[in-house]
Amino acid sequence: MALIVQKFGGTSVASTDRIKNVAKRVARWKTQGHDIIVVPSAMSGETNRLIALAREISPSPDPRELDVIASTGEQVTIGLLAMAMHEEGLKAKSYTGPQVRVLTDSTFTKARILQIDDERIRKDLAEGNVVVVAGFQGADEDGNITTLGRGGSDTSAVALAAALEADECQIYTDVDGVYTTDPRVVPEARKLDTITFEEMLEMASLGSKVLQIRSVEFAGKYKVKLRVLSSFQDEGEGTLITVEEDKKMEQPIISGIAFNRDEAKLTVLGVPDRPGIAYQILGPVADANIDVDMIIQNVGHDGTTDFSFTVNRAEYAKALELLKEVVSKMGARGVIGDNKTCKVSAVGVGMRSHPGIASKMFGALGAEGINIQMISTSEIKISVVIEEKYLELAVRVLHKAFGLDKGD
Ligand code: ASP
Ligand code: MG
Repeated sequence: MALIVQKFGGTSVASTDRIKNVAKRVARWKTQGHDIIVVPSAMSGETNRLIALAREISPSPDPRELDVIASTGEQVTIGLLAMAMHEEGLKAKSYTGPQVRVLTDSTFTKARILQIDDERIRKDLAEGNVVVVAGFQGADEDGNITTLGRGGSDTSAVALAAALEADECQIYTDVDGVYTTDPRVVPEARKLDTITFEEMLEMASLGSKVLQIRSVEFAGKYKVKLRVLSSFQDEGEGTLITVEEDKKMEQPIISGIAFNRDEAKLTVLGVPDRPGIAYQILGPVADANIDVDMIIQNVGHDGTTDFSFTVNRAEYAKALELLKEVVSKMGARGVIGDNKTCKVSAVGVGMRSHPGIASKMFGALGAEGINIQMISTSEIKISVVIEEKYLELAVRVLHKAFGLDKGD
């Protein structure tokens, strides 16, 4: 008998029929004698709908109130799921995040989980219940409702698995595992049987959308066995996210091509080239809780330099406003931006022992006439920022160049 956390994404609970199917699947596990905690997302499209409603009232909604609204999608699916389980003859109880004391910090719309009180859940499990806990949400010390950032129910599931020391955290989604890239962009993409936490972190942070990045960090840190599976197929082992990278006999150099559409680039022009300027520019951005991704500072000419960085597109307008103030304070020439950019990356732990990956990547993009605007590298990843209209082409070309296509 095992304790298993099963997370079901928005498409898996998109209709009452699908919710009934989830209940049937849970019932099969339950009758095998396992203890099950189910963590659903909202019905697909629902969180977007709720946020859009808020924006109809206010173009930049108050974050605290936005969380009050956005968190309701999951409250619907937990209740429906628990009822569907009752119909299957199971004992089941649903809880919102605050009810089971998912304690978070107070960073509304992207709060971090600090602690989960497992007492109530353990008691319900011991009484034979399937416990259904709303993903994506918690409450801060003062009882304010918080949400964990888009895709946050993955993190809820992993955090619950960690808190209850579950044997496995299964993420059921609309794909049957982690692929070499998004199959909607490259039909030849292949499913990976295993991927390392490190690679998965890069894939997730780069927007491969299968898992929220924070959930992977959490799983790596607390050694939660994490598996991605299809909620529409009964067969298949999915993809296991593992630490044992040396287990594979034949390590591919590149495991996947990740991309992120939601990238926006900002450039502060004619910045006085003196110590402290990076801090003066990025300090206020960090204070506003805006995540900065790539950063480039050019060689100075005539005592000035240009300073560029990228942020999530959703935070572009806010960052641009902030920078206008910074520019006038520091006496820079101005600020320009482009929110029609994207990022494409090659990811693989095999890169560590193989030089020449970067040049192969740049060569392949150059041959297609794709201009590279920014580059960044880490031990296991090379990323480029390019014009958004070339995204699909770039991903296809790189997938092929690195031999990731089917049959290669
Ligand atoms: N419903 C939330 C979202 O759409 C959380 C999740 O699906 O994981 O972002
Ligand atoms: Mg999701």
